[in-house]
Amino acid sequence: MAKVLIKTLSFFLKVFFSFWIANIIFSPISTAQNNDLHFEFYESHTNYIETSIKDLHFKHETISPIIEELKTNAFVKVEQKGTSVEGRSIHLIKVGSGKTKVLLWSQMHGDEPTATLAILDLFRYFSDQDAPHRNQLLRELSIYMVPLLNPDGAERFERNNAQDIDLNRDALQTKSPEAKILKNLIEEVDPDFAFNLHDQHKYYATGNSPYPASFSFLAPALNNTQGLTSTRENSMRLILSLNEFLQKKIPNQVARYKEQYEPNAFGEYCQSKNISTILIEVGSLRGDPEKQQLRKLQYTMLLIAFEQIASRAFETHRLESYYALPENKPGLFELIIRNAAIHIDGRLQVVDIGYKEQKKKTIDNYFYNEGYIEKIGDLSTSFGFDEIDANNFTIEKGKIYPKLIESVGQLNRLNFEQLAVEGYTTILCKSNSLFPLLNPIPFAALVQSDKKHYTISNKEITPLVLKKDGRIKYIAIKGKLYPYEKWLSQIRKQ
Ligand SMILES: [Zn+2]
Repeated sequence: MAKVLIKTLSFFLKVFFSFWIANIIFSPISTAQNNDLHFEFYESHTNYIETSIKDLHFKHETISPIIEELKTNAFVKVEQKGTSVEGRSIHLIKVGSGKTKVLLWSQMHGDEPTATLAILDLFRYFSDQDAPHRNQLLRELSIYMVPLLNPDGAERFERNNAQDIDLNRDALQTKSPEAKILKNLIEEVDPDFAFNLHDQHKYYATGNSPYPASFSFLAPALNNTQGLTSTRENSMRLILSLNEFLQKKIPNQVARYKEQYEPNAFGEYCQSKNISTILIEVGSLRGDPEKQQLRKLQYTMLLIAFEQIASRAFETHRLESYYALPENKPGLFELIIRNAAIHIDGRLQVVDIGYKEQKKKTIDNYFYNEGYIEKIGDLSTSFGFDEIDANNFTIEKGKIYPKLIESVGQLNRLNFEQLAVEGYTTILCKSNSLFPLLNPIPFAALVQSDKKHYTISNKEITPLVLKKDGRIKYIAIKGKLYPYEKWLSQIRKQ
């Protein structure tokens, strides 16, 4: 009996110890100290924000003086590496003198500016000798940064360069001067780690969830077979360090890009040169349309990445956790009107109506977003930033004010509040050049020739009026849903 007892006891002890040892070996080292530091990085952003730029549509001329000023700083090396197609300068900024080399570049797509702002903030962080952990980072690492690789694209707020080349598909042939500059840099610096920094559209979700993918990561593949090397494994583990922090700040809003092999993309190119590469895509965050909170998180991400590279702390992560991150999926809409009974081809049908926003330009070259109907049908597997169930509402097209508006003067003389009270949602213009003038007013416009397309189902801007018991309850206009009274007061304000 005693023998059996001892055997049982020793069995349980063995099981207990093997679990204990397995835990020690396989789980990440307690990162409590790092956690504190990571939060300190986050908090420090307030002190180092480059306050001269607050919106996303800055241009080369806006950041040039900031880079010029860096030249007067002893700790930093600024070097012009060439010019864009249209002759705008592209600079490399180096800080630190450590043996591990890190290269990052931003905005190779001209309309993806968030990381450029984060890098400008990093310049201010590195300029302060008392910034948290700054001196350790500069001792351990040499950091090479290229902010705004595609200044001509940024000029027009477009993805491609002035030759209409996508720089991130030009790593092999380098037909663009900008890609040539980057490729030469990769050769010259020969970094251990590289960061390819982008923005993605706001309608990506984490998996099939209602959460936007605020950050999406990819450890680019080396070849078609998705093989693993220690270089790529390091990318994956470093991503997990970033994810660990992000989950505390923005839970469920981190995704992973589906693996595909794009040999002419720079991520894949770097990885093939044995450089651990990370693609970071900034998506959207509710309540942060100008991406200033995302800018802060991106700044924090980069500092955490530097700290983790310097300390090698990321190496303790398990690869399974990388594959466990939800995939980045384009399932979100700006607004979904569910169960809407509308006439399509003369038949009353119950459908979901999904809106997205598109970029528009004002006459003085500013940008604004405007919603349009993107999809009509079954959107039961999608989510909207805003949603309404229209089950108990009747839905009608907004009424068009019949008088043709031919000039800016005529437009300015319109009393939109009066029109709204009379039940109109839409004006008729002679030319669409008048449309941008309406931008801040939640009122729609169309040109006379488009009047025949003024239907709910043509995926255009047709405003919808949601009524209950014969009374207007909501107006859906330019991708936004307004309770009726709020819509009126919004018009009154303009
Ligand atoms: Zn991009």
